[in-house]
Amino acid sequence: MKTFDERYDAIVVGARCAGAATAMLLARQGMRVLLFDRDRRGADTLSTLALMRAGVLQLHRWQLLDAVRRAGTPAIPSTSFVYGDEVITVPIKPRDGVDALFSPRRTVLDPILADAAVAAGADVRYGPRLVDVLRDASDRVVGVVIEDRDRSLHQVNAGIVIGADGLRSTVARQVEAATYRQGRHKCGVVYAFWRGLGNAGTWWHYRPGVSVGVIPTNDDDSCIFVAMPSAQFSNGIQTDMEAGYRRLLSECAPSLGRELSSRAPSERFRGFPGWLGHMRQSHGPGWALVGDAGYFKDPITAHGISDALRDAELLARAVVQGSDRALAEYQSTRDELSRELFEITDAIAGFEWDLDTLKPLHLRLSRAMNTEVEALVALDVPRPARSDPPGDRPFLAGDPAR
Ligand SMILES: Cc1cc2nc3c(=O)[nH]c(=O)nc-3n(C[C@H](O)[C@H](O)[C@H](O)COP(=O)(O)OP(=O)(O)OC[C@H]3O[C@@H](n4cnc5c(N)ncnc54)[C@H](O)[C@@H]3O)c2cc1C
Repeated sequence: MKTFDERYDAIVVGARCAGAATAMLLARQGMRVLLFDRDRRGADTLSTLALMRAGVLQLHRWQLLDAVRRAGTPAIPSTSFVYGDEVITVPIKPRDGVDALFSPRRTVLDPILADAAVAAGADVRYGPRLVDVLRDASDRVVGVVIEDRDRSLHQVNAGIVIGADGLRSTVARQVEAATYRQGRHKCGVVYAFWRGLGNAGTWWHYRPGVSVGVIPTNDDDSCIFVAMPSAQFSNGIQTDMEAGYRRLLSECAPSLGRELSSRAPSERFRGFPGWLGHMRQSHGPGWALVGDAGYFKDPITAHGISDALRDAELLARAVVQGSDRALAEYQSTRDELSRELFEITDAIAGFEWDLDTLKPLHLRLSRAMNTEVEALVALDVPRPARSDPPGDRPFLAGDPAR
């Protein structure tokens, strides 16, 4: 089994959208990066896959959108909102190199990002599991303890340890990252994949107490989810997910419910009971968090992957600058861009809306997403170099300050 180097500039735990993207960006900047995940390469994960414009824009800016297309991911030309019987269709306007949306399977997207990290020179491993972080005498995180697939334990040092290890982040727990904001509401979700529906575009259906999304993805499948208050999922739906799914689908999107009533999905029904949104302290001495590890909101607005791709870049830029101030700015920019998204998502996840109060929430959401896209586009505008104050240290392995 290949051993680990003794020291890396950065170690990234978790090799999906947040971690693989961060590792790729750091490696592209010449840093020596270890990216590892306890899961296997290309494994699926719970997700209804929809990327927002910001997420597609990131893939385009990183020259990875072609790989997503080549994998057979269908281009999505429009998004339709169905409020009861009223349909509002919004075409995707070509802008900033994005002329369609895409919703790749995670078995497609996550390996594309990880392969790009490999191509940039990162050391990428599947199977090893983070068991602990290493600290120096001043309590700074200086590395990790990894259990490899053969159960051997390895101590590996790094300039920075980045937790991209998801909702139940071990890194967040080990560094005792404080949660400073929590959502109030959570949704239960049941979803399945349906082949050959021939639907162009993404469809979002709403009726009081229930929401349905239809999201075209690879292999001529559409991911169709039903979202409901978490309590409803736990008190009944989860004991027979298929029956609950079909009933709620017919209630919210009757013609779709009829169309699918005599058909079987191409894969099993999957369920998610819900999880309250959180914003966590996402940097400290020698460590940082990105993706769901640091910031999670309910999947009802289908924004987690797009935010993970956004924050991967914000964090990578801060790590390359190598100062504590840059890391603090990473967190404050993330929060500034996320606050509105977080609040609106929480309100929608509460299902306390009716169709009249939902529309303004969607308009606010759309404005917040535009702000997010503008912030990403602005990253490409050259800025004057900034000199960080003395004492700020880059995380490079050869840095004599370490
Ligand atoms: C039901 C559901 C539907 C969703 N639908 C959408 C959607 O339509 N659109 C959208 O944008 N977002 C959606 N999301 C949210 C989205 O899936 C997440 O925001 C996104 O996956 C976060 O990516 P991540 O890389 O931060 O974490 P994850 O995807 O959770 O990846 C974390 C990785 O860390 C690894 N890991 C964990 N612990 C360790 C350890 N100790 N050692 C080594 N490796 C470890 C795990 O194996 C995992 O591969 C949905 C979420 C759910 C639950």
